[in-house]
Amino acid sequence: MRNGCDLRVHPPAACSRAPKSLGRTTSVAACLLTLACRGTDGVAGAATSDAGAPLRWATREIILRAAPEVAGAAIEPRVSVALERAAATWNAALRRCDAPRLVIDAPLVRPAIRQDLVNEVLFHRREWCPPSAVDFEECYDRSLNASTRLRPRLDAVGARDGEIQEADIEINGAAFRWSLDGKESGTLSLEAALVHELGHVLGLDHPCSGGGPGARRGLVPCSDAGARRAVMHPDAAEILIGQKPEPLGAEVEMVCRNHALRQ
Ligand SMILES: [Zn+2]
Repeated sequence: MRNGCDLRVHPPAACSRAPKSLGRTTSVAACLLTLACRGTDGVAGAATSDAGAPLRWATREIILRAAPEVAGAAIEPRVSVALERAAATWNAALRRCDAPRLVIDAPLVRPAIRQDLVNEVLFHRREWCPPSAVDFEECYDRSLNASTRLRPRLDAVGARDGEIQEADIEINGAAFRWSLDGKESGTLSLEAALVHELGHVLGLDHPCSGGGPGARRGLVPCSDAGARRAVMHPDAAEILIGQKPEPLGAEVEMVCRNHALRQ
């Protein structure tokens, strides 16, 4: 979340419009991950498709499963507890609207950060790299403490544009120290980070721009008091250390509004 963008939309919608003769593998491989990082003003922004449709789910439930970093390894209990708590926080906040419920299912036995229609939450303890990486050049930006990858439908047009088919969350336990709620000295809050990342899963982008050369136009600066209260603030995990993360009304309204559009 810090110094960069932890929300990726993969592949960008433009990739789905690549000539069919290229074949699916080629067309997808030719498209690098696109950092979404768009938002509106105020304290909540919606991630959107290339055509501007808000990213949202058509399903009634979003089923998430914790995954081990290597096949057969156990899931850390603090990760499971934090995930349950973070899902419960959003479910309570969204209980009065038509947004999907977040459901935590049984853990996976092996990592699968790929397009497979399985929504997974992977805590990296050893390496901050994709499970399929063969060398360190393929690893993620070490300044990110967590990352969410959204996979919208490739074939969605018209009213279905922006439908999310899958979301994968990864937590960087290789370069950052974590505890359940951030109350241990020198640790970040797993619960707060997962509330933030689940906000991305529900289609939210960051509410503000961090400034500097990477600043994004059209967003309020992250020093704005309103933005800093948001769980979707880029540095929410650091800010929410020792506090219970609660989505703001504007963030809840944005998720509710985007899902009221679904067909
Ligand atoms: Zn984020």
